[in-house]
Amino acid sequence: MKNVAWLVIVAFIIIPTPTFLAHAQESGAGGGQPSFIRDAEIENYLHALAAPIYRAADIDPASISINIVESNTVNAFVAGGMNEFFYTGLLQLADSPEQVVGVIAHETGHIAGGHLIRGREEMQNASAEAIFGMILAVAAGAASGNGGLAAGGVSGAQQVAERSFLSFSRTQEASADAAGMSFLDKAGISSRGLLEFFQKLSGQELLPADRQVEYVRTHPLTQDRIDAVQYHLDHSPLKDAKLDDKFYVMHERMKAKLLGYLQPETALLRYTDKDKRLTARYALSIALYRTGKPDRALSIVDGLIKEEPTNPFFYELKAQIEFENGRIEDCIDLYKKANDLLPDSALLREAYGHALLESKNPANLDIAIKQLLESNRLEEREPFVWHLLAAGWGRKAETTKDTQYEGMANYALAEEALAQGHDRVAGQLADRAMKGLQKGTAYWLRAQDIKLSTTPEGDHPDDAGKKKKDADH
Ligand SMILES: [Zn+2]
Repeated sequence: MKNVAWLVIVAFIIIPTPTFLAHAQESGAGGGQPSFIRDAEIENYLHALAAPIYRAADIDPASISINIVESNTVNAFVAGGMNEFFYTGLLQLADSPEQVVGVIAHETGHIAGGHLIRGREEMQNASAEAIFGMILAVAAGAASGNGGLAAGGVSGAQQVAERSFLSFSRTQEASADAAGMSFLDKAGISSRGLLEFFQKLSGQELLPADRQVEYVRTHPLTQDRIDAVQYHLDHSPLKDAKLDDKFYVMHERMKAKLLGYLQPETALLRYTDKDKRLTARYALSIALYRTGKPDRALSIVDGLIKEEPTNPFFYELKAQIEFENGRIEDCIDLYKKANDLLPDSALLREAYGHALLESKNPANLDIAIKQLLESNRLEEREPFVWHLLAAGWGRKAETTKDTQYEGMANYALAEEALAQGHDRVAGQLADRAMKGLQKGTAYWLRAQDIKLSTTPEGDHPDDAGKKKKDADH
C-alpha cells in the first residue's frame, strides 16, 4: 500500500527543470494535503466487485478509475467523467461485500444518469489526483467566496464546502437508486447490501449536522429511498442471494489492511499474537510495520507467505517492509515474485521498477525501465510512473552520454505534468523534450501532441498556475 501525496517530489530525479520544480513547490505547499491510497489488493477487490455492475450498465470496466481517498469521512462520489472516489471511512464502515457493491451500483447509477460533478474541461484529461484537487479547490473557493486553496485535508469547513459542491438532488438520488438496483439485478446480485447500508446510515440523519456522515449529506437519504429499496428487495428473486465466499475473504482482508495501515494503534490493541485468525495476523503485521517494528512484522508475514505461497499481496507487503527499511536488494526478488503471481498489476510493476531503480545497480536500470513502461501500458496517467521513468532515462543519459535519453526524460516529465493537470508546465517541458529528441520518432510525436494540446502561458484562463493565483487573492 502506498500513499499518494498531492504532489510527489523524489530527490533522485536527475534532470530537474527549474520551472517544474518551482511550480511543484508552489502547488505542493501547505502540508496536510488530501491523499489517495493506492493498493493493488484493495483495488483488485473493488474492481472485481464492480466489474459486473459496470458491464450491466454497458460501461467498459477498464474505462472506470476507482480511487481510494484516505479519510475517516464516510463518503463516495463520481467526478470528472469516469472516476469513482471511495473514502476509506466508507470502506471501513461496510460490513460485507454486498454493502460495498450496493454503493458501487448507486454511484454507477449517477454515472449512467449523467449526474456528474460540474466538470471543467481539464478534468477529462487529468489524473484522478488532479481531479480531486480541483474539486477540493473549487469547493473551498465556493464556500469562502474567495478563500485560500484547499490545503487542510478533508476536514472541517472543507467538508461543508465539499458537500455543497458534490451533493446531488433528491430526484437524482432516486434515479441513481433505481438504476443501481437494475444493475444489481442484471448482475445477479441482491440489493440487500444497498438496503443494509442505507439502514446503517439512516440513524445519521437524526444526528447534529456536524456529526452526520458525509455520504448522507452528499447523497440525501430519505425514508422514501429506503422504502423503495425495501420494496424492490421484497419482490426480487435475488433477495437471499449471497456473493461468492471469495468476496467475503477479500472484504475482511481489506478491512484488516486498512485498520493496520491507518489505525495501527487500534489494531495493536485489538489483535494480539494469540489471535490465530489470518486477518488478525495480517492487521497485526501491518500495524507493527507501521509503528516501527519491522522485524516482528516480517516474522508474521513469513508465516502468512508459508500459509498462502501463491498470494502476491503477502510478498508485496514483505517487499514494502524491506524497501522502507532500506533493504533494497532483498525486496527486489520479492517484488519480482509478486509480479510473477499477478502480472497485470500496474502498481506492482511500478513498485518493482521503483525498487530496481533505487538499487543503484547499473545492471538493473534497463529492467527497471522495462517494468515502468509495462506499468504505464497497464494503466495510463499515473504521474509517479512518469516521474520514475524520467529518473531512469535521466540516468541513461548520464551513463551513455546519449542526448536522446535527455529528451526522453524531459518528455516523461511533460507527461507527469500533464497527468497532474499542469498544462502550462507540460507544454514547456514538451518543447524542451522535442529539442532533444530525433524528429518524427514516437516520443517526439507525443511531445509535439502535448505541446500543441497545451496553450502557451497567458492564453489559457483555466491552467493550474492561474487558478492557484486566483485562489490566493
Ligand atoms: Zn447518490
